[in-house]
Amino acid sequence: MAKILIVEDNERNRMLLRDILHHYGHEVLEAVNGREGLDMAREHLPELIFMDIQMPVMSGLTAGEALKSDARTRNIKTVALTAFAMKGDRERILASGFDEYMSKPLDTRRLPQLVEELIGGK
Ligand SMILES: [Mg+2]
Repeated sequence: MAKILIVEDNERNRMLLRDILHHYGHEVLEAVNGREGLDMAREHLPELIFMDIQMPVMSGLTAGEALKSDARTRNIKTVALTAFAMKGDRERILASGFDEYMSKPLDTRRLPQLVEELIGGK
């Protein structure tokens, strides 16, 4: 059981993630853009963050880099979510500091495994 933050501007994706994470007993926080996600991460210090890449106000890449450059939030595990999965995207996203990467539509069967891998035991 962990505190998990979802940062995603698409309501349906947010709902899907929230429902699955709730099902596994996690506490879920939600934000709709990178700016709000960054603020919530700093305030609530979740164990894990699912971060959409394409969002208004502040992109997931920018928010993710800000999280990793701040000592208070650097150790939070981060999973990037992106609709476009072109060759090199995974490498680019991981190079910018994300711990993992999932392309959309989300593989809902992989999700619990991924959470366990990243923050197992919490
Ligand atoms: Mg988006």
